[in-house]
Amino acid sequence: MTFYQPAGNEIELFRAAADNGLPVLIKGPTGCGKTRFVRYMAEKLGRPVYTVACHDDLTAADLVGRHLIGPEGTYWQDGPLTRAVREGGICYLDEVVEARKDTTVVLHPLADDRRELPIERTGEVLSAAPGFMLVVSYNPGYQSLLKGMKPSTRQRFVSMSFDYPDAAAEQTIVIEESGCDRELAGQLVSLARSIRNLKDHDLEEAASTRLLIHTAHLVRAGVAVTEACRAGMIEPLSDDEETVSALMEVVYAVF
Ligand code: ADP
Repeated sequence: MTFYQPAGNEIELFRAAADNGLPVLIKGPTGCGKTRFVRYMAEKLGRPVYTVACHDDLTAADLVGRHLIGPEGTYWQDGPLTRAVREGGICYLDEVVEARKDTTVVLHPLADDRRELPIERTGEVLSAAPGFMLVVSYNPGYQSLLKGMKPSTRQRFVSMSFDYPDAAAEQTIVIEESGCDRELAGQLVSLARSIRNLKDHDLEEAASTRLLIHTAHLVRAGVAVTEACRAGMIEPLSDDEETVSALMEVVYAVF
């Protein structure tokens, strides 16, 4: 069973949405556990999950499916959304605001009580199998002013906000995921919290739980702790030399 450390009532909420066929929107910064949560819930509910990382070249055909040419002529191949619709699985669209509007328009009839997927190319209209659930996530801190989600789309979803875990929970996660000891996990968590609290930094993103886990893995593999912090946590956050040295000062203050 996949490990997931809950932060609040998200398990109950997700289950209630799943039981009622409601789509779910998860907001939160990158690396805070959104994907892990969806995988965990899919296992708990016994449903397959199809994950799609959205980007601006994603087409409706990438989601729905397309005709392919094989040795015996053309045949239809379902995309991940269609498979989830047929099998009663979860379709998880990560960073959904990255996808173009003309791509996500196929989601609308699936996200309300019609629960239908019209497949333009074949003329079929599929009714979603009972277990089908649409889950989307996005990072509100990232280009949200430019893109965001249309209110008409947002209002179709049960929405929950994720954030970095509290210190004790994050320590548990780092230990579980990397196998490191309590002390190192505690130090990495306080380092991350100091970095997250820095004012006036020009980082696009804060240090995520994922980066702490990477750093702990490096230390376990024998890399000196300050170098592990540099490679696992600081360099991934910034390309600016001055920012990197300022952040390394925080590292030297902890270790
Ligand atoms: P997101 O989808 O929000 O970008 P992920 O779910 O991929 O982030 O989380 C990144 C990593 O951090 C996961 O692979 C997992 O190791 C760890 N993680 C973060 N939050 C949790 C949590 N609550 N429980 C267990 N692992 C977590």
